[in-house]
Amino acid sequence: MKIFQTSVPAFIIVILAAGWISGLVSGLTLPLLVSAQLEQVVPYEEAVARLAVEEAAQAALEAGADSPEYGLAYETLPGARKYDGPGLARSMPIETKEVWLSWMRNNRNDAPAFLEDRWNLAQDFVLSSELKRPEDARAFLLAPREHFVRARNKGLEYADTWLPIGYGATITDPDVVAMMTTTLNINPGDKVLEIGTGSGYQSSILSYLTSEVYTIEIIKPLFIETDSLYRDLEKFYPAYGSINRKLGDGYYGWEKYAPFDQIIVTCAIDHIPPPLLRQLKPGGVMVLPLGPPGRQYIMEVKKEVAEDGSIILSRRDVYNGLRVSFIPFRDEAGTSYSGPVTE
Ligand code: SAH
Repeated sequence: MKIFQTSVPAFIIVILAAGWISGLVSGLTLPLLVSAQLEQVVPYEEAVARLAVEEAAQAALEAGADSPEYGLAYETLPGARKYDGPGLARSMPIETKEVWLSWMRNNRNDAPAFLEDRWNLAQDFVLSSELKRPEDARAFLLAPREHFVRARNKGLEYADTWLPIGYGATITDPDVVAMMTTTLNINPGDKVLEIGTGSGYQSSILSYLTSEVYTIEIIKPLFIETDSLYRDLEKFYPAYGSINRKLGDGYYGWEKYAPFDQIIVTCAIDHIPPPLLRQLKPGGVMVLPLGPPGRQYIMEVKKEVAEDGSIILSRRDVYNGLRVSFIPFRDEAGTSYSGPVTE
């Protein structure tokens, strides 16, 4: 586990070394060095070829539509699963690794090469309390991180580190994703808003906790890539069809679907955006990387409304004083937000 997201190679070396040593000690195959073969690769070329089609959907979005339309008939595709969603995060057997592996092999079509790595990572987080509830552990175990990590980072799909995904954005470290997810306490039917879709990995986990996931991304080509990836993955993971996606500035939330039970901000900011606070339900929870560039604390913010109507906020550092470095929360012009915007 790392504290700062400053240097990928250094952390990767440490993590690989740690994985190798622990592999030797326990006599297991090296999980992180397995040269795994993706079985459901989404060809990048295909995503690029779709850009022209996506541009039309984009124009519709900009003209006022909130989300592109999804029309994928996944039930007609071979190997497709009829059910995929929050119910699995309540029912999937996870008593032991063997039980889980065998259930996954019989019931899902995930690439088998990654399953053990995914289990090992989840187990680490359960032991460190970065995944607190069983449903959060199951949601983590259901999300195929291998599809959200870029092909050039092959071999690092389940390394506990952040990785670049282009456009200056990153896929967040799995432990930070786990911790932020578990802080939200999401129950089926809750409405959860994510700011910073990025790779789509975080929202894929959220889609196993509730079918009401809303996510906003500001970088247009990244939004298009992730939207395209989700459309491909929906053939195998129908839950992703329920993720509502929007291109835009998340500073202002998503008024149309507010209020939200939970809000997760995955870009760094030095204050709580007032519109997001307004769109959080009384009793709701927000988790965000709060602080100056390069070093934020992961804060849980709870909102209560007193009898006289005044708002009471309570804050808790969920990472025990450790700092992280998320990429900046920026506006349409690319300028990082600093201090609340007067509306
Ligand atoms: N949750 C992502 C993490 C992506 S990194 C994942 O699981 O991969 C943070 C993301 O926040 C970047 O993609 C960045 O473009 C986005 N971002 C930054 N400012 C934003 C804004 N104002 N509105 C929406 N997204 C924003």
